[in-house]
Amino acid sequence: MIKNFISSRRKVLAATAASGVAAVAATARSASFGNPDEPPEGAVNTKGNPSSTSDPGPNNPALSNQFPTAFSPPATNVGSLPMFWASFNNAPRRIQNGGWARQVTQFDFQVSEQIAGVNMRLTRGGIRELHWHQAAEWAYVTYGTCRVTTIDQFGRANVEDVHEGGLWYFPAGMPHSLQGIGEDGCEFILCFDDGKATEFITLLVTDWVAHTPPEDLALNFGVPAETFSKIPLHDLYIFQGELPGPIEADQQQAQGDAGPPPLPSTFQLSEVAPTRQTKGGSVRVADSSNFKASKTIAASQVTIHPGGMREMHWHPNADEWLYIIAGEGRATVFNTGPNVSSQNFRAGDIGYVKRNYGHYLRNTGNTDLVYLEVFRSSYFADISLSDWLTHTPPALVAQHFNIDPKVIAQFPRNKPVIVPV
Ligand code: MN
Ligand code: MN
Repeated sequence: MIKNFISSRRKVLAATAASGVAAVAATARSASFGNPDEPPEGAVNTKGNPSSTSDPGPNNPALSNQFPTAFSPPATNVGSLPMFWASFNNAPRRIQNGGWARQVTQFDFQVSEQIAGVNMRLTRGGIRELHWHQAAEWAYVTYGTCRVTTIDQFGRANVEDVHEGGLWYFPAGMPHSLQGIGEDGCEFILCFDDGKATEFITLLVTDWVAHTPPEDLALNFGVPAETFSKIPLHDLYIFQGELPGPIEADQQQAQGDAGPPPLPSTFQLSEVAPTRQTKGGSVRVADSSNFKASKTIAASQVTIHPGGMREMHWHPNADEWLYIIAGEGRATVFNTGPNVSSQNFRAGDIGYVKRNYGHYLRNTGNTDLVYLEVFRSSYFADISLSDWLTHTPPALVAQHFNIDPKVIAQFPRNKPVIVPV
């Protein structure tokens, strides 16, 4: 009995030793093209040892299947970067009669220091009440039409309609309201130019009036105190309202002697010609050069066709907050260390890339990948890796990579933005 045990135990030990040798052989393989680190990382290094990549513990396939690149990163990924993936898809909605809002701020998404994101829906007639706040607000309409009202410090008021693919920008402190109009109201994405800004602590007109003594209201507005006897005691935030009349009538009623503001608060980005168009896709930039009111937010709407890629680049002036409108993609980010990490993104997801971190985004689906790049800056700026390498003396570049200068000359030379060119 004991002898049998020892004998079978020896067999187990022998088998373990054999597979151990194989495993050691795999991990001892020297760094190679596409697998540069020591010890080698990635599933490609685990041949003959399948349990290295299995995941026998608890998991939720509905969620984990959304992240194939996190589950099995390329062998070139290394180290760690702060999480740069977040989403509106699992952000709690604050639902009221007339619409809803949800947000992802720096409190939810540590890396997002410069931008906080909000996703809001307003029904046909639904009103986001008159309010203002500490941060500037930039928006992109993802569905329907929204009517916005504003006034500046010179008393220049305006009412404007913003359609799907359109933008608005309100500087910090500028009073405004939003209302869903058209067939089915609207939905939009808001960006505040401060990662800690929150949609749920804005300064609301109903809050202020309800918390002012009636006699002070009477003096301020020059009417009897009883005028205010029916005001709401709690703020409205979002509420179902009546559909407004024609835009021209609203504009006429709002405007005073000061006239309209010289710079419109809105910009129909989807109607401008692409800033750059290639075989791989297109990009439309909106910053203070064309959307002149937008002094602290620059943005681009990027479309990448299937098989295409937003080229390897970085932004010298600001962090990038990105929002996926349609399709699916994989973003990879590089920082010194080296630290390289990838994440998968789908509609409604948010990404964030720190200023000067190298990055690129591949379309991993069969349909166009459409997304927004948003920056806390007055201007859009990016540095293209291929633009740099093709406008540096070829002999100098060639010595870095052991590549024939004639081959380097074949790299795209005129800042493609989206590849293939
Ligand atoms: Mn606002
Ligand atoms: Mn970018």
